[in-house]
Amino acid sequence: MQTKIYNLLRDFVAVESISCTRTEREASVFIRDYFAKFPYFQAHPEHFGIYDIPDDPYDRTIPYAFLKGRSANTVVIMGHFDVVGIEDYGEAKPLAFDLDKLEAKLKTMDLPPEARADMDSGEWLWARGVEDMKAGLVVDMVLMEDYAKMAEEGALPGCIFFMGVPDEESYSAGMRAGVKLLADFKKKYGLKLNVMLDPEPCAVTEDGTQIISVGSVGKTMPVVMVQGVQAHVGHKFAGFSPLSVIGRIQQKTEESLAFTDTYQGEATVPPTWANLRDLKKKYDVTIPHRAAGYMTVLSFQSTPDQIMERLKAIAKESFEEAIASWADMLGEYNKKTAMHMREEYSYETPVFAFGELCDRLKAEKGAAFDAFFAAEKEKIEAKILAGEVNYQDGTVEFMEDLLNFADIKQPLVLLAFAPPYYLAFNSNLIPGKENSGEELYAFASSVLNGLGRKTAIEYYMQGISDMSYAGMDHPFDTDAYSANTPVWGRMYSIDFEALAEIDTPCTFTGPIGKNPHQWTERLLKKSLYEECPAFNRALIDRFMQGSQEGHDHK
Ligand SMILES: [Zn+2]
Repeated sequence: MQTKIYNLLRDFVAVESISCTRTEREASVFIRDYFAKFPYFQAHPEHFGIYDIPDDPYDRTIPYAFLKGRSANTVVIMGHFDVVGIEDYGEAKPLAFDLDKLEAKLKTMDLPPEARADMDSGEWLWARGVEDMKAGLVVDMVLMEDYAKMAEEGALPGCIFFMGVPDEESYSAGMRAGVKLLADFKKKYGLKLNVMLDPEPCAVTEDGTQIISVGSVGKTMPVVMVQGVQAHVGHKFAGFSPLSVIGRIQQKTEESLAFTDTYQGEATVPPTWANLRDLKKKYDVTIPHRAAGYMTVLSFQSTPDQIMERLKAIAKESFEEAIASWADMLGEYNKKTAMHMREEYSYETPVFAFGELCDRLKAEKGAAFDAFFAAEKEKIEAKILAGEVNYQDGTVEFMEDLLNFADIKQPLVLLAFAPPYYLAFNSNLIPGKENSGEELYAFASSVLNGLGRKTAIEYYMQGISDMSYAGMDHPFDTDAYSANTPVWGRMYSIDFEALAEIDTPCTFTGPIGKNPHQWTERLLKKSLYEECPAFNRALIDRFMQGSQEGHDHK
């Protein structure tokens, strides 16, 4: 077993599947070729293969393998095979994907004290992707060999659906397409999806307690655009700076708990702005016309429509405050000078969600709006596909072009969403499967306790993961989300119907490691060779037997 795991991991790590590159395809082929050697799949070629992600700029694919057993009780195994870049390895960079040789090289380098101690212990494996998360996938791929034999003999009590996904480290294109593949298998074979095991590395606290996550935090990316009134800076009061509004919105969101959700002693951190700037193309002596920025909002229960409503209220308040402040300022200024620029300072303070402004323009301009919108969408899609802009900048450009088309001559705020969107997911809150997270934890912790590990439950993993697409625990107005997401469609979409269809309790089941995404990324051998296989086998066996008492999982 140990040799089998090591050799497969060494070969898999050597496939340099860096996120958002065409090498991700090679990892799909690696997984497909591995399963192709199983007599089970030679007898059932329709049960495994490679699924193309529609309209993917890197032509990425999803390898899958389905073992059909004696009942509909199904365990889903899903994990990502993309890894982050290797620039941080410095002089060890040429060996970053070499499981055999990297360790000796790192030994000669200046390691941080904890990494040095682990290096000296000889208890760890070192390479990019070894922890996050090829080792977890490898453990389950090796276990699949035993289960495939059982399936061949007609002795497999339930079904196993295995799926590898690309792009987890970027936009989760793999998992967003994979839910459709899974929903299709579910329908075709009448599967009962009892659990989804995601062999991402498990977090461990300093005292060795293993954290079992039964859900994952949600992430939305609101984009704020403010239009002001241009004027020469010497005639300041003839104009209005959009920075006065967007600055206030940034402060009232980033430095406030207005968006903090709580659940059972866990809380989301306040939003973080990733970008905030005026939209001047070059410097001149004029008040900027527009400014825009975008932020990450993490959530547990808040849905995109609720987040939009909260943001609209904050935008309105910020807008009114800014106008009132400029009016006060003008009043004080006019006391100091006889050369009044204007006597009164007032503007209306309209705040639009993207979809609302589109509806209004469609009502006003009819076919002209439709033509604009279709052409604009095509333009932005082409730019994203060509890699000229990312989703966020493409969204900002779309919003700016919409305002140019609208030609509204007064200040306003326009709000939209940019990709990505990760749903908050909590196994405890799945409609009709309430408390599944608690039950999953109870079983998982009994197994780990038996292996000598202390455990603790976590309802929402805060690091953002593919687990967000294990289902939809809070039904919401998905049309309102897509209407407020300018680049929604061919370039970015989420199959909400498929999500509601799969709704599967989910947890992380990978081996224990340290420092993911760093050059000191490493994996604990004992966890890889002993604990993780035993843990995964126990979970698979348990959930192929059907659901927990008192719950009729659909
Ligand atoms: Zn990962």
